[in-house]
Amino acid sequence: GAVPLATVPDPSDMLLGGLLSPDFDDRACLSRYRAASYRRASRHALSPHLVSALRRYESLHRLCAPGTPAYARALERLRASSPSNSSGSGAADPSSAGATTCSYLVWTPNAGLGNRILSIAAGFLYALLTDRVLLLNGSRAGDLDDLFCEPFPGSTWILPPGDFPVRKKLTIDTPESLGSTLGRGEPLSSAPWLYLHLVHNYRTPDRLFFCDDTQAELRRVPWLVFQADNYFVPGLFLIPRYERELSRMFPRRDAVFHHLGHYLFHPTNTVWGMVMRYHGSYFDKADERVGIQVRTFKWAPISSDEFYGQILKCTHGENILPAVVAGQVANNASDGQPAAKRKAVVVVSLHGEYSERLMDLYHERGTAAGEAVSVFQPTHLGEQHIGDREQNQKALAEMVLLSFSDVVVTTGVSTFGYVIQGLAGLRPWVLMRPDHGKPPETPCRLAPSIEPCFHRPPNYDCRAKARGDTGRTVQHIRHCEDFPEGVQLL
Ligand code: GDP
Repeated sequence: GAVPLATVPDPSDMLLGGLLSPDFDDRACLSRYRAASYRRASRHALSPHLVSALRRYESLHRLCAPGTPAYARALERLRASSPSNSSGSGAADPSSAGATTCSYLVWTPNAGLGNRILSIAAGFLYALLTDRVLLLNGSRAGDLDDLFCEPFPGSTWILPPGDFPVRKKLTIDTPESLGSTLGRGEPLSSAPWLYLHLVHNYRTPDRLFFCDDTQAELRRVPWLVFQADNYFVPGLFLIPRYERELSRMFPRRDAVFHHLGHYLFHPTNTVWGMVMRYHGSYFDKADERVGIQVRTFKWAPISSDEFYGQILKCTHGENILPAVVAGQVANNASDGQPAAKRKAVVVVSLHGEYSERLMDLYHERGTAAGEAVSVFQPTHLGEQHIGDREQNQKALAEMVLLSFSDVVVTTGVSTFGYVIQGLAGLRPWVLMRPDHGKPPETPCRLAPSIEPCFHRPPNYDCRAKARGDTGRTVQHIRHCEDFPEGVQLL
């Protein structure tokens, strides 16, 4: 049947000003060219240099991706060099003389979906800067199934399960890690592969990743495997050799994830179907869309009563939600008059009580300005199951739905919230973390930027070879408001 007019994307905007390649089959991934038409136009300028860097990357990826001769050769060399293979000599194959040599960056999953999305984006930026090809390790990323469309035209970013000879579990103590190798005083450049441990518990030798001389040595390592639960992009802005290229790609540094996220993360048709269903039932007919993301953390305990109070104080205090008028029923319920304005509120949370209480608050109750407020919550799954396919799909659908909001309220420190604000391109109202179980004095603050916070910066001064404060090294990297231990690009 014919596509309803409202869903036909504006052709001039479909490619987001050149961010997206036109070389995809639209039907295979409906969200790719459509999601933008559900969002407010991005106010964050895209640099032509980033656009050309992406096109260049796409050509490289096509040349080096699984299924290509260059990939087969690179894998062969890696297999030949592994210690379990006695014939390993590391000698170049004479038949491949003059052929393309590709180097790779292999992403390994760690933590929840928000962390994963942020670490993939950070890895992709590193791949762009170092002419590496980013591959997601399929053997352990099975739970990424039916979540994201392929981002690079004519090829895949999934490392086929079984292809990769490095099968062991990678931890902070892995002998092939950057930190362990430096600790043994061995040169990096002769390693066939190295593991980069960029997880929150990393130690000084692993943090040397963010130093210029380490980067010089890493250039010659054909396979880098990394694991991160962090948005380490601000760390890349500390490295002198990438400064110029980064400033050309991102003349304004405050929308790095916004652009990379719009480029990389397109929900598959299954997930997009969920987004469209939620959108149709909750957001479609509203005049204003409010997204509220409520996340609780074990390390920051607060009762649901206290947290609900904080959410109300924030949303009423900042005029995000209207106050209810005591004893008055909603306009449309009383005299059949349409409400002055229809506000739709979507709450996403693992728990149902916050939206239930908001629903009760506004149900058939009048508001001062005659606005009708409806409250929805797509799912409340109770607890988090990392790596569960259906949970990931629901979580992604909710992130994407909330990125269609006109106003966003997020919970500080949550990577789930960072993804929403980045995709939305909106500075969120951030619910600040509790203070000894009580809501803080200021319930929420407008975030200074839409960039995610890098929770565990290296805090290492490469020149002095001593501890340093990453938040005070360069002008455009500051401590985060929601998590002062972290740093953020401004
Ligand atoms: P973070 O822990 O808040 O930084 O966010 P992550 O996304 O990394 O991990 C939390 C995980 O819990 C998500 O990936 C989801 O699986 C689940 N989760 C947390 N909050 C929500 C929510 O509001 N909706 C859904 N559907 N899942 C959630």
